[in-house]
Amino acid sequence: SDYIVGLTGGIGSGKTTVANLFAELGVTIIDADIIAREVVAPGSAGLQQIVEHFGTEMLNADGTLNRAKLRETVFAAAEERRWLNQLLHPMIRQRMLAQAQAATSPYAIMVVPLLFENGLECLVNHTLVIDIGKDTQIWRTIDRDHVSKTQVINIIDSQISREQRLAKADDVINNEGDVESLKSQILALHNNYLKQSEKAQ
Ligand code: ATP
Repeated sequence: SDYIVGLTGGIGSGKTTVANLFAELGVTIIDADIIAREVVAPGSAGLQQIVEHFGTEMLNADGTLNRAKLRETVFAAAEERRWLNQLLHPMIRQRMLAQAQAATSPYAIMVVPLLFENGLECLVNHTLVIDIGKDTQIWRTIDRDHVSKTQVINIIDSQISREQRLAKADDVINNEGDVESLKSQILALHNNYLKQSEKAQ
């Protein structure tokens, strides 16, 4: 695809739900979270470099990355965090762009939870934000993840604010309603993106 829509929104806003509905319309979905796992999968260059840098204590017994250990190691060390980001971010970008280029649908959607936080707007032609009120966001996340309200609020506070996210959006989906309301908003956007992607040809 030559036309890429970046889908973003806060924790529990409905990114996966919305992406699945676009996929039902035949749109290729590129998921940054999946790619972020692939670049450190067993046998990857990413994992090899992490082990060379931090040692084999970063591995679980089955050879997969010990994420908790890595998180703990870079949490307190800004220099190490920077090293890790400089290793992984280019790999993730490259893979996302390769998948977008390979996509055969008229346009593709990149699901990037931290699109604005990580300054990744340059990867996409258009941004689509899922908007949701804080209370609904908190309750849906608690319902799904069985976490405490404090945990959810901490994550929300670590992300870009709702106002800033909306200010950066080219399009907005309101996800306060039911799935039927989502579907009709998505259908309208889909028709728009088909037109845009034709122009981009
Ligand atoms: P995260 O960033 O945390 O992975 P997400 O943005 O992908 O979250 P989803 O997992 O799609 O969000 O949605 C969060 C929860 O809210 C899920 O349990 C989902 O089923 C539910 N949900 C999403 N949209 C609606 C809706 N319109 N009505 C009711 N429940 C919804």
